[in-house]
Formats: sequence, structure tokens, C-alpha cells
Amino acid sequence: MVKTEDIKVLLNQYLKVLFLSTMRQCYADLALQARQESLSYEQYLLELAEHECITRQNNRIERNLKASKIPRDKNIDTFDLKRVPAKVAHQVRSLLEGSFVDHNENILAFGNPGSGKTHLLCAIGQELIRKGRKVYFTPCSLLVQELLRAKKELDLSRFLKKLSRYDALIIDDIGYVQQDRSEMEVLFTLLADRYERGSVMITSNLPFSRWEQIFKDPMVTAAAIDRLVHHSVILELNIESYRMEVAKKNKRKKPDGPAKSSK
Ligand code: ADP
Ligand code: MG
Repeated sequence: MVKTEDIKVLLNQYLKVLFLSTMRQCYADLALQARQESLSYEQYLLELAEHECITRQNNRIERNLKASKIPRDKNIDTFDLKRVPAKVAHQVRSLLEGSFVDHNENILAFGNPGSGKTHLLCAIGQELIRKGRKVYFTPCSLLVQELLRAKKELDLSRFLKKLSRYDALIIDDIGYVQQDRSEMEVLFTLLADRYERGSVMITSNLPFSRWEQIFKDPMVTAAAIDRLVHHSVILELNIESYRMEVAKKNKRKKPDGPAKSSK
């Protein structure tokens, strides 16, 4: 017969070797509870296994959220869906379910600066991660610089492979800064590489009609748009800047601000 104290020591050792750290932490408390509630051995084991699984899942989500580089405050709870056109709100509700990623579909968000494109795609990205996906957020300008560096170091294919591990790639502000030919070339290479192999989520202030500014050559522009649009959801956020709206509201609220005194 093994003594109670020895059981504790051995259990701790075995659970440690098996990397079952949550079970190790909570088996004693749960055992006490199980005795009180007269649970069967199976029910107790089930509770333990559940705790281990849930903790691992939460830790994985936490790691993936951190690795995604998505700003945490840009989530769906802080996003006012009532502000966007009804069609967009409807599209977003379905996108939040995340199945677009299964079909390697893309999301293209267009609209004026401040209309909420970045916030919205980040929010969708965070929900994807909570559903067990891997997402990576990057400003387009930074991504292009990284692609160029990888190309210069003859490391482009490895870098593309690294990016291909993400189910969705958020490329923020495509076309925001003028790009030269070598920059647009690597960007095109990336888009072609992900075509039908992984989702791309893009924000842009430029409508497609002005994408030649990004890709320079009309053929390349058409090819890039064609690949992106083929399986895609387009979100048209043609609304006033959120910052502007907030500023106006604040101005109106001020008791003796210029808005009131000018009445
Ligand atoms: P864009 O990418 O279109 O330029 P952002 O997503 O950066 O716009 O939004 C500008 C600011 O306004 C951000 O701080 C963002 O969090 C906020 N914002 C925009 N739309 C909304 C919204 N519908 N609900 C809450 N905050 C919003
Ligand atoms: Mg933005």
C-alpha cells in the first residue's frame, strides 16, 4: 500500500514528466470536490482532462494573439457595428464565424481614412484566433521592406513559407505610400504565392481604379486584382472618419464651446 504522502510526490513527478501542469495544479482540489459530490472515477478524470484541455487552448490562443501583432484594443467588443453601413454589418457577422478562411477567401476593406477599416479587420482577425486560427497583422510598408530584405538575402522563399503558416494575413494600408517597382514586385510575388492557399485581408484607401499607383504596370495591376478578387468579400466603408465624428460630438457637447455660442 502506497502512503498518501508518497502518492502526492509520485503524482507530482509523473504529471510533470507528462507535461500535465494544469492537472498537477488542480488534481487535489478537484479530488476533494469529487469526494464531496460522490463523483465516479470517470467523472473525476473527465474534469481533470477538461481543465487541462481548456487551459492549453486558452494558452494557445493567448500565444497566437501575441504572435499576430494585432493591436489588442482593436477588437469586436470595442467596434461599433451600428456605425457601418447595414450591408457591411451583415457581411461582418458572417465573416466573424470564420469559415471564409476554410475556402482561402480574401477580405478587401475600402474606405476613407478613419472609416474603421483597420479596426474592423483586426477585430475579425482576433475572432479567427479565438477560433483556433493563426493570423498575422502587418502594415503593408513594413511587409514590403521585410520582403525586399528577404529577397536581397536570397531568403524570399523561406520568408514566404513562414507567412504561409498563417491562415490569414492582414496587410494594412496597401498603397498608402508610393512604392517603386522592386517593392511592388515582391508584394505581387507574395499575393501570387498566397492565391488559393491562404486568406489575405487587405485595407486600402485607394479604390481598384487607382491601384495602378501601387503596381505600376497595368498588366500586373490587373493580375493582382484578379487574384485577390477571385474569392473575396469586399467591405465598402464609405463613411465619415470615426475620429472626425467623435471630435464633432465632443465639440457639440462642450457647454460654452464655439458650436453652442455660435447658435
Ligand atoms: P482606417 O483604418 O479606416 O483609417 P481605423 O480603423 O484606424 O480607420 O479607425 C480610426 C480610429 O477610429 C481608430 O482609433 C478606431 O479604433 C476608431 N474607430 C473607427 N471605426 C470605429 C467603430 N465603428 N467603432 C469604434 N471605433 C472605431
Ligand atoms: Mg487604417
